[in-house]
Amino acid sequence: MAVPQNRTTKSRRNMRRAHDALVAANPNECANCGELKRPHHVCSACGHYDSREVVASAKEVDLDEDAA
Ligand SMILES: [Zn+2]
Repeated sequence: MAVPQNRTTKSRRNMRRAHDALVAANPNECANCGELKRPHHVCSACGHYDSREVVASAKEVDLDEDAA
């Protein structure tokens, strides 16, 4: 099994992790219903994209696990 030859110092470990932070999502308002939605994605509330309905009935399909 491979074993590290040198100890990773706190400084090097923390420098590596300096780029690991998560960034917050950047939701847009849906042009149709005003609900917050992911950019370039179909609105999960009303099924509209680019001001037209592309998903027939979003209310009947349960998308709750996808919205979270
Ligand atoms: Zn919408």
